[in-house]
Amino acid sequence: MQLANRIDKLPPYLFVQISKKIAEKKAQGIDVVSFGIGDPDIPTPPHIIKRLCQAAKDPANHRYPETEGLPQLRQAIVEWYERRFNLSFDPNKEVLPLIGSKEGIGHIALCFIDPGDIALVPDPGYPVYSIGTMFAGGESYFMSLTENNNFLPDLGSIPPRIAKKARLMWINYPNNPTGAVADLRFFEKVVAFAKKYDIAVCHDGPYSEVAFDGYRPVSFLQARGARDIGVEFHSLSKSYNMTGWRIGMVVGNEKIVNALMRVKSNLDSGIPQAIQYAAIEALLGKQDCIAEHNAIYQRRRDLVVKTLNKIGLKVKPPKASLYIWAKVPDGYTSLDFCARLLEEASVVVTPGTGYGKCGEGYVRLSLTTPDYRVKEGLARLEKWAGKHTL
Ligand SMILES: *Cc1c(COP(=O)(O)O)cnc(C)c1O
Repeated sequence: MQLANRIDKLPPYLFVQISKKIAEKKAQGIDVVSFGIGDPDIPTPPHIIKRLCQAAKDPANHRYPETEGLPQLRQAIVEWYERRFNLSFDPNKEVLPLIGSKEGIGHIALCFIDPGDIALVPDPGYPVYSIGTMFAGGESYFMSLTENNNFLPDLGSIPPRIAKKARLMWINYPNNPTGAVADLRFFEKVVAFAKKYDIAVCHDGPYSEVAFDGYRPVSFLQARGARDIGVEFHSLSKSYNMTGWRIGMVVGNEKIVNALMRVKSNLDSGIPQAIQYAAIEALLGKQDCIAEHNAIYQRRRDLVVKTLNKIGLKVKPPKASLYIWAKVPDGYTSLDFCARLLEEASVVVTPGTGYGKCGEGYVRLSLTTPDYRVKEGLARLEKWAGKHTL
């Protein structure tokens, strides 16, 4: 049996390796504190689960759903965007629910990338952007996100011969893994660049609701002209602690939304309808949970930032996202540092290199761990740092 080349080209999924190491530790009876994966520890709010259970009992929701989702869900997405960003969309043409946004992010490359085409992809970045590109036969050109540029891609540094071959650009703010944010001025520069080179833009925005200190992230689609060339992916996963239910959406340019709908109609059979009803409840129901969750994450963020700076890892408190992006001490690579912390302090942090070459020198800490575990993990870090010169 011979597997396709694309399978050999897949990098080993970093979190699988880390989970394996954690499992080994646990098998030895060692307690491990994880700042690893970005998956909210707080449960889905009860009113959303109640709606899900109700809908699950209705036989009408036991049959195949439509690819384009329930009309009521598309309408709820439109109302949510209207309320949150003051933008209006046609629910029948500019909105498509997804089986979690990762699904759409992975598949949309099939709408733009033919063999040999280029996608512009942030480094560090969510791995699905470049892997979707590779699956479609394309190549990624990595746009470096560095501290000097506030972790925004320097569009001027992209060679014109690359830009001319590019079909698609990925951006993601508030950013995973760096925690960086972008304003409308940056998004408008992206629109101008994309129009100049005739590139479609996909903005991935699952953290637009996870923000601190009163900061409210903007939508890419608020940038002038964004809808002419782009779409925004969004997700209920991080906003409403619904990672396990798998529901998200894409909104924006009609031609792009339609192309993805056509791809999906040939691959999947839609989102379980009970989950669509739960999503409608999440989007249109009471929104208090967002501020409540953000208060919790902000408290954890402050604890983590304080301890890391105290032990000599330089970090700035992020304005949004679930992540702290910290520089590793001199003399360590990202991977060394993570391995040492896991081995010697039983604490898991993610090596920045898991998100791309430019992640070297950094580690990511996720705030999705209960407070008492955050405190335990930080106490271990402090104790570990006391035995080392950082
Ligand atoms: C969590 C995350 C997603 C995926 O969310 P789902 O809707 O659960 O698939 C997409 N992009 C980024 C950057 C994320 O961190």
